[in-house]
Amino acid sequence: MTVPGSYGGAGLTDEFWAAAAQHRLVRPVCRACGSSFFPPLIACPHCVSEDWEYRPSSGRGTIYSCTVVHKAPSPEFEVPFSLAIVDLDDEGWGMLTTIVGTAERRCPEIGSAVEVTWRQAGGRTLPAFRPVGAR
Ligand SMILES: [Zn+2]
Repeated sequence: MTVPGSYGGAGLTDEFWAAAAQHRLVRPVCRACGSSFFPPLIACPHCVSEDWEYRPSSGRGTIYSCTVVHKAPSPEFEVPFSLAIVDLDDEGWGMLTTIVGTAERRCPEIGSAVEVTWRQAGGRTLPAFRPVGAR
């Protein structure tokens, strides 16, 4: 892929956000070593190759870690909310994300199954995760 010269520039994430707008979760996969990683970086954090591409994710994973945030980092956040690291079922990657669909916005149990869902915030479609089977 072609990436801009600035670390974390919009060009790195344009394809991610375009897929999210269509409710498709994608993740960077290194063509050199096959590793998945997140967030998108100029170079693969495993082998430093800059040859990577976005590939579809199953959107299913498990809770690795979770906490409930009670102080809003900015006014658009509705507190409390659950913030988690989800390990995706695709090989070896995870993402920091919000958890929705739990009673009183509590954290699901560590290791429990979650699936991607989508929410609108700040003019963007953002991935969030919910317990499997929750609405
Ligand atoms: Zn690599």
